[in-house]
Amino acid sequence: MQNLSSQLEAQNIEALWITTPANVRYLSGFTSPDDASVLFTAHGSRLITDTRYIVQAEQESAFPSFIFKKRDEIKAELERTLAGKRVGFEKKHMTVAKLEELQSILGITWVATDGLVEKLRLIKTSAEVTLIRAAQTIAQNVLEATLPRLQAGVEEREIALELEFQMRRMGAEAAAFEIIVASGLRSAMPHGSASSKRLEEGDLVTIDMGARVQGYHSDMTRAYPIGELRPELVKMYRAVQTAKRLAFESVKVGMGCKALDAVARDYLATMGYTEEFAHSLGHGVGLEIHEGPGVSSKLETEIYLEAGMIITLEPGVYSADLGGVRLEDLVLVTETGAENLSTALEVEL
Ligand code: ZN
Ligand code: ZN
Repeated sequence: MQNLSSQLEAQNIEALWITTPANVRYLSGFTSPDDASVLFTAHGSRLITDTRYIVQAEQESAFPSFIFKKRDEIKAELERTLAGKRVGFEKKHMTVAKLEELQSILGITWVATDGLVEKLRLIKTSAEVTLIRAAQTIAQNVLEATLPRLQAGVEEREIALELEFQMRRMGAEAAAFEIIVASGLRSAMPHGSASSKRLEEGDLVTIDMGARVQGYHSDMTRAYPIGELRPELVKMYRAVQTAKRLAFESVKVGMGCKALDAVARDYLATMGYTEEFAHSLGHGVGLEIHEGPGVSSKLETEIYLEAGMIITLEPGVYSADLGGVRLEDLVLVTETGAENLSTALEVEL
């Protein structure tokens, strides 16, 4: 893994203007990255933020900060320190208006870059793994404690509210994303947020949830039956469970993410589910709920798993007439294979 300085050197860039909030936080540790940027150079990086954050920047930032009152001061500072240089910016997080503003600074050559810091974030440090593990532990303890509430007559949103409340009580900063509780035919919507629908006998309830701890996310999906399920739903559930298990057994250093997606996709196809698995197998998780590596058949170039990556495996089958099933585990790639961080109860049907 190349570090950031050598990546910049390879592109003949002398500094990188980092504005993507997760990247700003990753490099600096500053916890209000939406209101900050990092000017990274090999000889001394700086956090750039405004006067609301003087104390916070002092306490949190790994870099000395440049505090401005008016945006004009940034321009003057960039001109003073970077004139004559090639400076990278992050093209996926730059508006046309901001780029025009940067281009009005005399003497700097702006170079579009893509995914430089994201590349570093693919491999989690042990401190990052600890935080993701902590988030996952909160989420699954809360899920298991809430299972007795899954009864016919209870509204989906009551379950979601309880899960969120308890996660925060247990120390999560927030839910990692809007909790999905989708029952009956609503479970055919992969991202159906919790509604006022009441759980009914014969429903399979999909719960997709995660917690956030110090900026780091967890992500997990389970599905639980209310009473007896129709045989077609049981068949779907077992197929998804097997697809997830086969994928998990294939996780190891050097395995391709596209190839991993194919393990689950090919198995589901043999069970008669092709169109029904309409999304990627998984994604990386970290400072963002969805980050690299994508575990997807749609990757342009293959990405190979490395120790320290944390990915989800979330096969799903969705049928508008029957409902859907998704099961999702959070998995740490290790030197010797994989560790499943998701131990929350998964029922056998
Ligand atoms: Zn999820
Ligand atoms: Zn996910």
